[in-house]
Amino acid sequence: MEPLVIVGTGLAGYTLARAFRKLDRTTPLVLVTADDGHFYSKPMLSNALARGKAPAELVTTPGELMAAELGATLMARTPVEAIDTAARRLRTARGEVAYSRLVLALGARPIRPPLAGDGAGEVLAVNSLDDYARFHAVLQGAAHVAIIGPGLIGCEFANDLLASGRRVTVIGPDPRPLGRLLPPAAGEALQTALGSAGVEWRLGTVAERVEREDAGYRVSLADGGTITADRVLSAVGLQPETGLARAAGLAVERGIRVDAALRTSDPHVHALGDCAEVDGQVLPYVLPLMEQAKVLAAVLNGGPQRLAYPVMPVVVKTPAHPVVVVPPAPGVAGTWSVEAGPDGVRAEFRGDGVLAGFALTGAATAARQALVKELAAATA
Ligand code: FAD
Repeated sequence: MEPLVIVGTGLAGYTLARAFRKLDRTTPLVLVTADDGHFYSKPMLSNALARGKAPAELVTTPGELMAAELGATLMARTPVEAIDTAARRLRTARGEVAYSRLVLALGARPIRPPLAGDGAGEVLAVNSLDDYARFHAVLQGAAHVAIIGPGLIGCEFANDLLASGRRVTVIGPDPRPLGRLLPPAAGEALQTALGSAGVEWRLGTVAERVEREDAGYRVSLADGGTITADRVLSAVGLQPETGLARAAGLAVERGIRVDAALRTSDPHVHALGDCAEVDGQVLPYVLPLMEQAKVLAAVLNGGPQRLAYPVMPVVVKTPAHPVVVVPPAPGVAGTWSVEAGPDGVRAEFRGDGVLAGFALTGAATAARQALVKELAAATA
């Protein structure tokens, strides 16, 4: 019997493997991954510095132990190069692998901002344990870090770098941090609080050039300004990993297209996690992939499950001013009402009085459970 093959051992691949093994102890399972297959929690990457965590300390279970626990064969450091959907075979750097069913859990890759200058190629991005190891190594002795991108990951790294004793400048075109996720009052509250903690904001402009200067870099901005920093980190967003699927002829839009049963355009191939566009939505967070894994495990076991997401708050790990948000679904009509106090902002998005989203910052995050409950009742 050909195995179930999961490509990718991030949270999506491993969460699925665990959920699948709860239902099926016997089907052969092969895990193929470009990295070393160690289990770690990716959200820890943006709050590990303040905790003084070295890269190896973020590994909760080594790959070999994961494989043993799951009764699986792990092919680590084995990039998949091509998928032959007709023959149901993968071509890898270590030979061919046949599958009965294939799951793509390939993640996403950091978008590189268009930068000129001889230091542009040395701009860092952190989206894996290997990236964190490189970042951690080059931070030794670095006193000032410039971050390109004032979104969720940029703000989390800004807070973490500050907490680890470094100076931080954050650059981005939006007028406020987390501009795409938060209503203006909530973004302003985060901006003020992180500013008071020490973040230097260079908003309303973009980085154009990064040049080597002494042991660090000079970043030139579109507004004519410059910043000198020891290291430059880019956090401008992620792009689902779709190259393999596209080359194999699977339907791809922003991500690998799957339906509510996590099926791609080929009946023997599924996808989940950051690489997948599920019913038209790419949701690159942990809660969606956990829901997807539950449903996909049941589907692979012959069940008729279909994905229906619960309310999934996005938590921004900025301890200087925590943020929790459930953005209203695209196209939902309504308006924001905002209560802004000295310790935080409570913003509720309502249409005809019915709650359709919220954003809480600082001390107002205490209202999270009550609002999640109200939202769940409103969307039931
Ligand atoms: P990944 O973890 O990227 O795994 C992809 C896997 O595919 C890897 O094993 C890789 O080696 C493998 N792979 C890729 N291409 C190939 C190939 N060709 N051949 C073989 N293997 C391949 N979400 C939250 O909900 N809350 C948070 O607080 C939060 N914080 C975050 C902080 C940071 C710094 C980052 C970067 C993300 C954060 N996220 C957070 C997002 C969340 O971590 C991701 O949505 C999730 O980890 C994605 O898991 P994944 O398994 O889909 O992808």
